[in-house]
Amino acid sequence: MFTQDDLAFDRQHIWHPYTSLHDPLPCYPIVAAQGCELQLADGRHLVDGMSSWWAAIHGYNHPRLNQAMQQQMSQMSHVMFGGITHPAAVALCRQLVAMTPQTLECVFLADSGSIAVEVSMKMAMQYWLGRGETRQQFLTLQRGYHGDTFAAMSVCDPQNSMHSLWRGFLPQHHFADAPECRFGEAWDERDINDFARLIEQHHSQIAAVILEPIVQGAGGMRFYHPRYLQQVREYCDRYGVLLIADEIATGFGRSGKLFACEHADIVPDILCLGKALTGGTMTLSATLTTRDVAETIGRSAAGCFMHGPTFMGNPLACAVASESLALLQEGHWSSQVARIEQQLRDELLPLRDHPQVADVRVLGAIGVVESRTPVEMAAIQQYFVEQGVWIRPFGRLIYLMPPYVIAPAQLAQLTAAIGKALDNPALFRA
Ligand SMILES: *Cc1c(COP(=O)(O)O)cnc(C)c1O
Repeated sequence: MFTQDDLAFDRQHIWHPYTSLHDPLPCYPIVAAQGCELQLADGRHLVDGMSSWWAAIHGYNHPRLNQAMQQQMSQMSHVMFGGITHPAAVALCRQLVAMTPQTLECVFLADSGSIAVEVSMKMAMQYWLGRGETRQQFLTLQRGYHGDTFAAMSVCDPQNSMHSLWRGFLPQHHFADAPECRFGEAWDERDINDFARLIEQHHSQIAAVILEPIVQGAGGMRFYHPRYLQQVREYCDRYGVLLIADEIATGFGRSGKLFACEHADIVPDILCLGKALTGGTMTLSATLTTRDVAETIGRSAAGCFMHGPTFMGNPLACAVASESLALLQEGHWSSQVARIEQQLRDELLPLRDHPQVADVRVLGAIGVVESRTPVEMAAIQQYFVEQGVWIRPFGRLIYLMPPYVIAPAQLAQLTAAIGKALDNPALFRA
């Protein structure tokens, strides 16, 4: 049961992502979720266009994921990972090592995407310590997003993550111009110039380049040219700088490849995974690296990698992640994502001509409609709920990333709701 009193308590006492407790926008009470639908407390059902932020790729309340958790729970929900190992962690890491590029064979499990990024940056810094050098700078791209903890935030887009708020506290890193050449369009060599200039100038202090391959997600939902990523890999090789690929959003098929790095046929030195890792059931992340990086870290003065969260390798999360990866590998993600991509193209690209629309872009199971003016958040959210869909825009971006198992009729409901919203000027700022 969910009462008006519960809603009032929520409003007064509980923060939601990026909200104020001063005068928050309304929240919608969800009491159950099944397949590709969320159920509101009043009984209405909403078709889910968000996969709970890239995570619920198999849909909600999946019997096999539930069973994996129940079975693990009957053995043990948690046990410390210090000095102890367990079947769920070993099974999951075996799968991760097998499904990622061959050179990535060492795995660090942590609690969330942001922590995977922290771990990757710490790995890079300790790698250089192991080589007898102190390197504490990173090179990244404008418009990037890597999480909300401080080290992760220091490599997020400076405007989007309000670096001005933390001036004097956040470490200063190098930001190359965001890629301009779009995925699927012509490549212009000049796109890499700013990145090339920065790495040439500063490589002797740079521990690693960190970026989101191909899809810049929360920093603007932009899809960039694979040549850019190939060139980054070449520059990293030329100057001996490590490359960290943050595939927390793109991993596990979302962009149309199992990992977005495959679009450019490159392999990073460190790979961050999260979000869809547990099929949207529990929080878990993994950072993978090469034997060389792992062994070099071991030669640093610490003699070990200096990280170890309390809930590291949580058995429940590992067991459900393992089952989610099994589902992915025996399933039809590649044809499902291709089908979603085609339908998103068919139904969203015609909106390009709408006067409210600045741009429409589609890659894999991601569809983005960029409006000319920012949405009126409370109004458009309510509108979508009235249309029976769950779509959560930000700024000028209305986007879809549905579960891979979404039915064509459900996806059509999502795209139709966006089309109709565009015709309603009250849902957008002037
Ligand atoms: C969501 C995201 C993160 C942060 O993950 P959390 O689990 O929210 O901490 C980091 N990098 C990218 C690319 C993401 O999309």
